[in-house]
Amino acid sequence: MAEITFQNVWKRYPDGFEAVKDMNLEIGDGEFMILVGPSGCGKSTALRMVAGLEDITDGDLVIGGERVNELAPRDRDIAMVFQNYALYPHMTVRENMGFALKLAKVNKSEIDKKVDEAAQILELGAHLDRKPANLSGGQRQRVAMGRAIVRDPKAFLMDEPLSNLDAKLRVQMRTQVARIQQQLGTTMLYVTHDQTEAMTLGDRVAVMRAGIIQQVDTPKVLYEDPINLFVAGFIGSPAMNFIPARLEEGNVRLPFGDVPIPAGVKTDKREVIAGIRPEHFEDAQYGDEVEGGLRFKTTVDVVESMGSELYAYFDIKGASEVHSEQLDELAADAGMDDVPGGSASHVVARLDARSQAEHGREVEVVLDASQIKLFDPDGGRSLT
Ligand code: ATP
Repeated sequence: MAEITFQNVWKRYPDGFEAVKDMNLEIGDGEFMILVGPSGCGKSTALRMVAGLEDITDGDLVIGGERVNELAPRDRDIAMVFQNYALYPHMTVRENMGFALKLAKVNKSEIDKKVDEAAQILELGAHLDRKPANLSGGQRQRVAMGRAIVRDPKAFLMDEPLSNLDAKLRVQMRTQVARIQQQLGTTMLYVTHDQTEAMTLGDRVAVMRAGIIQQVDTPKVLYEDPINLFVAGFIGSPAMNFIPARLEEGNVRLPFGDVPIPAGVKTDKREVIAGIRPEHFEDAQYGDEVEGGLRFKTTVDVVESMGSELYAYFDIKGASEVHSEQLDELAADAGMDDVPGGSASHVVARLDARSQAEHGREVEVVLDASQIKLFDPDGGRSLT
């Protein structure tokens, strides 16, 4: 078994900076866990502690039931794939993949067998005699993974392994990584700053900010039930709209109308932040009829056409100055440089591709009121 467990783990660098704070995380045997968060949130530090490349300041790190805090990296039986997958340029793909086994004095026929198996999984069989210089970026990345796979480790650690690839290749490789992990069934801890990668790859995703894990759950739960404003804004693209609102007489008073307060909301706050995903708006002319939806007319400012759908940005009329200030404060409280949803005075809606939304045109929009989220403006905790 190869569970990886962080128990109250801290990392304090020599200059006193706390990069990881009281981290608790259980990665199950065979689980694909993603650690995601903005740059500098401490995710690489956490991964490097598992690899043994970084000392643990406090707490316990347990791999396969064994506390490994003091165990040397080579004795941990885990393999790490880095962003810059430094292959040996003078060696062939076969030699690169088998190198660790050769160092470990494994006999040649056994090495060949392991390399052939890995090459098959990675679809590298036809390239085994090539040198890295004669491979594409994606192929090189697969060789780097091959080096990890042949060692048959307890767990794989990956630090942004796809970030050097171009956008199209990254999407292809994403599918391959998911397939390989499923095929091997090996525990995997994978670090990325890219929320799309996190959402498409992981069995579960841990969202981290400023050294602290905010929420750990399946991609679906993170998306549908974010625990706070930070997770809500970080997960999803385009980001969730955050709109200052008032709770009054059983209603959420939004700039474009009133909707009933969602069931189960308990707060004595009057001022809240409403969170609305772009897909919970639709063009009244083309959407499915939403029961209890809030209809309103609005003038479209900017349209981005994605082919299969379009994103329409419209103004929140009247109160944009107030909103802007309030949202800036809120972002600062929640530790965000900026509100992920972008401009405070704009709302983005994902509309049917047939929508006639265009700059300056008035469209009728329906909001699915049942999908609205509410957040506490102090600290950003979810109220729904
Ligand atoms: P990125 O995606 O940019 O690599 P990250 O989330 O992986 O970011 P880490 O590399 O884990 O972040 O770094 C976390 C924080 O710790 C950063 O603020 C970084 O500046 C700080 N840090 C990293 N190494 C050291 C060090 N040796 N001494 C002091 N602070 C450090």
